[in-house]
Amino acid sequence: MITNEESLMFCMEMAKAADVVLILPQSVVAMIARYSMSALAIGVPGASAVLDTLQLRSDSISRTFPLPGASNAVMMSSAADANPVSRVRTLAHELVHDGQIDRKGDVQTAVDYLGSGLLRAQAEAHAAIVGSFVHHLLTGDPVDENAQPLDAGLYHLSPEELGLAQSIWRSGTRTFMDGKVPPFVVAKGFHDALKRLLPHTIKAEAFR
Ligand SMILES: [Zn+2]
Repeated sequence: MITNEESLMFCMEMAKAADVVLILPQSVVAMIARYSMSALAIGVPGASAVLDTLQLRSDSISRTFPLPGASNAVMMSSAADANPVSRVRTLAHELVHDGQIDRKGDVQTAVDYLGSGLLRAQAEAHAAIVGSFVHHLLTGDPVDENAQPLDAGLYHLSPEELGLAQSIWRSGTRTFMDGKVPPFVVAKGFHDALKRLLPHTIKAEAFR
């Protein structure tokens, strides 16, 4: 199993390669960072309900948000940071959001994400696939297709939107249970980097 030290070192390395500022929960910056999310959401209809939930659950929720300038920041929750595997898994999940923000631009991503349940469902499903893949790499555990990595209450998804997110996630997890790397840049990046830097931590035999 990946050690705490290896996990920290690896996360720093991956954040640096993605040009992302990684904010760990014990950092003072984490407190300040919570407030910059609210600034982004001003003027987006329907945003406040989503944001309220995120703000209230800052101990359990990690998130990615744009910084003034070019790069994004990932704020790791204390729950995610408490375990070496979940730290790496969460960073992979958040770096998928980082890519989504970079492709669409800060404001458009905030509008889509906060304004549309369907787009939120899709964005979260993609991030969850990559997170589940990294978890599988580091533990070798098979994916439980009935698991619920997408929390409807947390992301304010309707039953229909949650159904969509679950089915996207399920088909993505089948890719790697069949021995193929899921078709996401971050999935390939994490797999390549683990093979290069910490090959002994890969527990999924198909991916060694
Ligand atoms: Zn997410």
